[in-house]
Formats: sequence, structure tokens, C-alpha cells
Amino acid sequence: MNLNYDKYIVAFSGGKDSIALVLYLLQLGVDPSRIELWHHDIDGKDETFMDWECTHDYCQKFADAFGIQIYFSWKEGGFKREMLRENQRTAPTWFETPGKILKKVGGILGDLATRFKFPQVSADLKVRWCSAYLKIDVCSAAIRNQERFQGLRTVVLSGERGEESTARSKYQIFEVDRSDRRNGRLKRHVDRWRPIRDWKESEVWDIIKKYRVRVHPCYYMGWSRCSCKFCIFGNADQFASAYKLSPVQGDEIIGYEELFGVTMKRNTDLRSLISCGNPYPNITSELARQATSKIYDQQIIFNENEEWLLPAGAFGESCGPI
Ligand code: SF4
Repeated sequence: MNLNYDKYIVAFSGGKDSIALVLYLLQLGVDPSRIELWHHDIDGKDETFMDWECTHDYCQKFADAFGIQIYFSWKEGGFKREMLRENQRTAPTWFETPGKILKKVGGILGDLATRFKFPQVSADLKVRWCSAYLKIDVCSAAIRNQERFQGLRTVVLSGERGEESTARSKYQIFEVDRSDRRNGRLKRHVDRWRPIRDWKESEVWDIIKKYRVRVHPCYYMGWSRCSCKFCIFGNADQFASAYKLSPVQGDEIIGYEELFGVTMKRNTDLRSLISCGNPYPNITSELARQATSKIYDQQIIFNENEEWLLPAGAFGESCGPI
């Protein structure tokens, strides 16, 4: 791998694989000033509907701890507005630019369409629209609409691992990114790199341990993936755990499923799923407080006199994208 890029954009969810990506770049000797973390807020700017309250600030504190720039971006109205589309266009995209200046694009053209249902559990991004509309498209729009990437060599890194699914094991490790225009007038060179596609989960935890990083509180409670709190891929125990933490949020999501008359899962509705799951035993009131607070108040890097602990959710059941 030729590390001669001007910019290294890491698609940073705040989960273990995206943390491993950042640490891997640092281990390779990439100058932190060339790295940018990009986090896409699933629920938009201020609301909490599907996601964890602490994730935004956890990502900010992680970036601060390693002296790396972070930029946030989101679709206006987030998950809920996209879900509630009724003969409407998809909402505009907002993204931060250097100096924390906000830019808004899109939302004017495009087809009128109706969703009025949750994304479906599928490998097909047309029906599992949350990944495409709230992450992939937001990232591309933010690259395409910033002149600062013109004439530069940029690489976008993402943390998909083949161990998670057959589909992911077939992703290219290296390819041209969809926002690339290297041969055009703009001379915008953008590659996509998935350096940890073939990593085992143990390698991910090894590098996190080496840098003594405190991961997102969901892992210490028992989640094996740090996705949305109520991720559509969650199993019964995961939904029961999320509901135990956030019953008001859970009731709102259940209410929408009943309103739509279309379930999120193929074989069951959320109320039944939650009732047959067992909340993770490692949920403590302190971890619940950390995860459901807008401010993340723990140190990202463990002190020298603290023992780094493998989280309860490590090597657990992986309920993730297929
Ligand atoms: S974490 Fe789950 S619910 Fe959230 S955007 Fe990704 S697939 Fe959709």
C-alpha cells in the first residue's frame, strides 16, 4: 500500500472496527494532521430516535484524545424524517467543513417517494435504506461538495470485515471511490480502502488494547457491535437490552411499527421480539448513564494504573449487516 495521500478520511462510527482503523493508520506512521474522522449522525442534528445518546460526544472525545480532526454530517431530520417520507423528496444533507462551518446540499431535486416503514433487514441497500441514505450518500455528498478535495489525493477508509458476513468478505479491499473524478476537470482523486477486511475480531481487540482505548459503553454492557441502539439487525436480547435502557424510545419505535402495519423483522413484531429477549446481565446503572447521556465523561485512554479490560460484548453474537 502506497501511503502517499494528502487526506485520509476514516468513516468513523465510534465502533470497534472504526477505532481499529484509526489506530492502524497511526501505527503505520500516517501523520495525524492528514487524518479526518467523519461521523454521520443517524438521527440528524439533535434528536435521539434510533441511536445512542452518547455516540456523537464519544466520537468527539476520541478525536480529541488522539489530536485528530473530526467532522460531523447528517441528513436533515435523520432516520425518522426519511422513514416518514410520504410522496416527498429525501431531505437535504448537512456537513461540517474546516472552521466548523456548516454546509447544506441537496433536498431540492430528486424523485418524490414514500417509505412509511422501517428499513428492511436485507443485504439490498434499496430496502435497507438507512445505510445508503444516512451514511454512504451523506459521505459522498460531503466529498463532492467541498472544493478542498479538488486536485488532492484522498483515500476513504471504512472498517467492514469479512468475518461479519459473506457479502462483506467479497468487498474489494481497494478500489476507486464513487466520489472520484481524477480524470475530470476537478482532478479529485478519491480511493476507497478497507484495510481490515481480512482481520479477525481478535486482531481488532489486540490493537485497541495496545493503545489502551476505552470503547463505547455499549460494549461493556454486552453489545458486540456498536451500531444504532435499536439497530434493525438486533436480535431479541439486544432489543430487550435497548428497551430496558430506553423504554420511552422503545415505545416510540414500537408505535411506528404498529402505525405502519409493516414489521421491521420478517417473522415477528418488535413488541414480541422484546418480550422474548433477555437483557444483558452486564448492564449497570453507571454504564446505562454513560450510554444514554449526551455528554461522554469518561477518559478515552485508560490511565497507566488502570487495567485495560476486554468488554463483555467482545466475541459475542454479531447481529450486523448481512
Ligand atoms: S446501525 Fe442498523 S439501524 Fe442504524 S443505520 Fe446501520 S443498519 Fe440502519
